[in-house]
Amino acid sequence: MPIATVNPATGQTLKTYDAMSPEQVDAAIGRADLAYRQLRDTTVEQRGRWLTAAADLLEAERDETARLMTTEMGKTYAASQAEVTKCATACRFYAAKAAEFLADEPADATAVKAARAFVRYQPIGPVLAVMPWNFPLWQVMRFAAPALMAGNTGLLKHASNVPQTALLLEDLFRRAGFPEGAFTTLLVGSDAVDMVLSDPRVRAATLTGSERAGRSIAQIAGRELKKTVLELGGSDPFVVMPSADLDRAAEVATTARCQNNGQSCIAAKRFIVHTDVFDAFAERFAARMSALRVGDPMDDATDVGPLASDGGRDEIDAQVRDAVDRGATVLCGGGKPAGEGWYYPPTVVTGLTPEMRMWTEEVFGPVAGLFRVSSYEEAIEVANGTSFGLGSNAWTRDAREQERFAVDLDAGNVFVNGMTTSFPDLPFGGVKNSGYGRELSALGMREFCNIKTVWVG
Ligand code: NDP
Repeated sequence: MPIATVNPATGQTLKTYDAMSPEQVDAAIGRADLAYRQLRDTTVEQRGRWLTAAADLLEAERDETARLMTTEMGKTYAASQAEVTKCATACRFYAAKAAEFLADEPADATAVKAARAFVRYQPIGPVLAVMPWNFPLWQVMRFAAPALMAGNTGLLKHASNVPQTALLLEDLFRRAGFPEGAFTTLLVGSDAVDMVLSDPRVRAATLTGSERAGRSIAQIAGRELKKTVLELGGSDPFVVMPSADLDRAAEVATTARCQNNGQSCIAAKRFIVHTDVFDAFAERFAARMSALRVGDPMDDATDVGPLASDGGRDEIDAQVRDAVDRGATVLCGGGKPAGEGWYYPPTVVTGLTPEMRMWTEEVFGPVAGLFRVSSYEEAIEVANGTSFGLGSNAWTRDAREQERFAVDLDAGNVFVNGMTTSFPDLPFGGVKNSGYGRELSALGMREFCNIKTVWVG
């Protein structure tokens, strides 16, 4: 993939970059290693001041940054603005909480026959972050904020279609005061990942992206015996039971499917509805989906902008056509519109069967699959009948059912009567082919720490 900014609203190439040479990459790793030696000796308070300065810069420059993100990957301007604000919030969260998350944890000295014993959290060194384009600022920040606060340094290999946002991030941390090399953007293709992760100075890797990229990085890391955190795709279920507030469920379902133009790993993708309320929900949902305004992502009136790439649009169109060819019914949307830009209408497909691609594959665009079930047990079977296990949603006002969903849904998170989202305070990650490890909260910060046992006799 060329490293370039191509505006998804027009298909126009705005800026291209040459990939860095192996010598330039080697020098950047050297700077990250040197910066790690400096950063690990700074106090958590000092690092907190730098991260707070980064939050201040993000807030002051929100609108320019948002415009750039929208130009590079097509999300609405309002969504880009919200993403910048969310990043500033995460920086402030970790600046405030890191001392608590990294504090020594005393153990029962008598039980371990010591005068004193405790757990200490220490940084491990430069960490490679391979990141996707869909939340080009947030995906990076939720790694970078805790990693830098812990005293690690970051090497970012961002998706090839968001190079300017990638460079902006490096510049942000430099201007915020972090030492030179603390956070570096490597303008390289995915073929350079092996070289970077094989370098002994690089201690670990985190990836948010596809299952294919996850398998590749896990293989390299396995060979090199390095820790990885993998946040991969998802095909989140959104279960609607008879006691649900149907109007609210249909409203949230629409947002949950079409947020970020339908390109979110935790977007609700499979809508599993009890037969008692199926028709009532389907009607409300299709009405809301067709009422969304598709258009220029810079226009305030737009709900859904273009997809990030022409290839991504072809993929979801092929998934819809496959379902229709095998007998599924399109309740609204479907089909690529004519004209410039990689737009796709919000679409609802019903009558899905297991041989259709939409039954098992992730659909990375504003296309919802509707499934009819006749019991709680069948809802769980369909919800869990996927190789993914990232997020999940359940709609029910029955307290006992709420408890059962929390236990039975095979996913890294369960949201009851609400939309799956991420908060700095809560861990985020998946099970099964959605990956392993956790981001955010204290757990995310400690993924890249040496959790050191100290025993003093
Ligand atoms: P990719 O996995 O292709 O891209 C994500 C990042 O991984 C990019 O930086 C990419 O670099 C890099 N990459 C790709 N292949 C490899 C590889 N073999 N080794 C090392 N790095 C690699 O995601 P796509 O952009 O193609 O999106 C497609 C799918 O990815 C979606 O359907 C979804 O499942 C998943 N995805 C999940 C996201 C999430 O939030 N969990 C976010 C985005 C995508 P480059 O751009 O240079 O190819």
